Amino acid sequence: MLDSTLQDTFDRVLRRNPGEPEFQQAVREVFESLEVVQSRHPEYQDHGILMRLCEPERQIIFRVPWVDDEGVVQVNRGFRVEYNSALGPYKGGLRFHPSVNLGIVKFLGFEQIFKNSLTGLPIGGGKGGSDFDPHGRSDGEVMRFCQSFMTELHRHMGEYTDVPAGDIGVGAREIGYLFGQYKRLTNRYEAGVLTGKGLDWGGSLVRKEATGYGAAIFADEMLKARGKSFEGRRVAVSGSGNVALYAIEKSRQLGGLPVTASDSSGYVVDENGIDLELLQQIKEVERGRIHEYADRRGEGARFVKGGSVWDVPADIALPSATQNELDADAARTLVKNGVLAVSEGANMPCTPEAVTVFREAEVAFGPGKAANAGGVATSALEMQQNASRDAWSFAHTEERLTQIMKNIHTTCLETAEDMDRPGDYVVGANVAGFRKVADAMIA
Ligand code: GLU
Repeated sequence: MLDSTLQDTFDRVLRRNPGEPEFQQAVREVFESLEVVQSRHPEYQDHGILMRLCEPERQIIFRVPWVDDEGVVQVNRGFRVEYNSALGPYKGGLRFHPSVNLGIVKFLGFEQIFKNSLTGLPIGGGKGGSDFDPHGRSDGEVMRFCQSFMTELHRHMGEYTDVPAGDIGVGAREIGYLFGQYKRLTNRYEAGVLTGKGLDWGGSLVRKEATGYGAAIFADEMLKARGKSFEGRRVAVSGSGNVALYAIEKSRQLGGLPVTASDSSGYVVDENGIDLELLQQIKEVERGRIHEYADRRGEGARFVKGGSVWDVPADIALPSATQNELDADAARTLVKNGVLAVSEGANMPCTPEAVTVFREAEVAFGPGKAANAGGVATSALEMQQNASRDAWSFAHTEERLTQIMKNIHTTCLETAEDMDRPGDYVVGANVAGFRKVADAMIA
């Protein structure tokens, strides 16, 4: 339930943004945490902060025409939502997936404002993408699509303006094509205009690993706060993209046993622990399907077609695939199987009902805007390296990432305590992220 002022503002947001359920869900989740803040800080209301925050500073929608390998002209839709620049240039990834529409980009951009604020680094919030589906497309097709996409997007970007990066469907290959086209169009080697670059041309060590590492580190911090650890614990991970792969790697380094991975066709369970090299070979190099993992791994590993990866008993869950992938039923199953901690590697992977189940069962729950902030934080470190024409070592960059994740964890806990909601990381993350942006907007 929202109090009447928040409800009134929320109703206005609903009326203004019809047909965008993910965006509405993300806004509601933040509003639900803000009740105490509103009463303690009347200045936010005086300045109309909530309505201002919900309205993106700028929304760009554009046509992306390109020619496929058969010589047929294809048309996709491109988006960039420049949401909030109170703390720094707009920062956030690009998602290439058939499900992308304006509502999805707005939900992701809205989350990004608070996530970026929580990192403690000077970055505003934005997000973009396209309904282009890279699956089954040749390198040449992906390149021509990226070049066409950048032909429009470049006029809105800049290292002091808007700095995109990857998200679902956008990895090193796509960032390479995008950066090449930006360079060609502007005749500037402006390294800090995109993050997630290759290591030879301005990228940062640890950026690739950062989101997954960060989500596991956040889970570890939540466990430590309860006197527990990863040691000997079973870890369920969903997804098999960039976030999942490195959540698996870090879970293993922390002493856990990651036993699952998934894609849209189903999931694999490996009782001996996921073999990261094999998974990387199949998903990153060959861009294949997840069943191949079980086919090649043999004894101890099996593929389950469709189904829910959350049926697999685990002590720690790291949902790292996509939004709303873990519902109330899945949450109940996890709780029944004794899950201790859930740390969101993806953006909003747990439905609001699932979060309620975890809360009621007193499972440590790390919301994405805190738990997966390691990715964008390391993007900001990439920007720092680009600005100083420097390249840091793996150890130094990883140390910075680990410290940032620990700081976010502490900030969430302290803020939750301050709001009389001890141990509630959702309230902690929303309030801490919000206050900093709101104060900067007022200033
Ligand atoms: N797409 C990532 C996220 O959801 C990273 C964004 C970035 O590095 O700018 O936070």
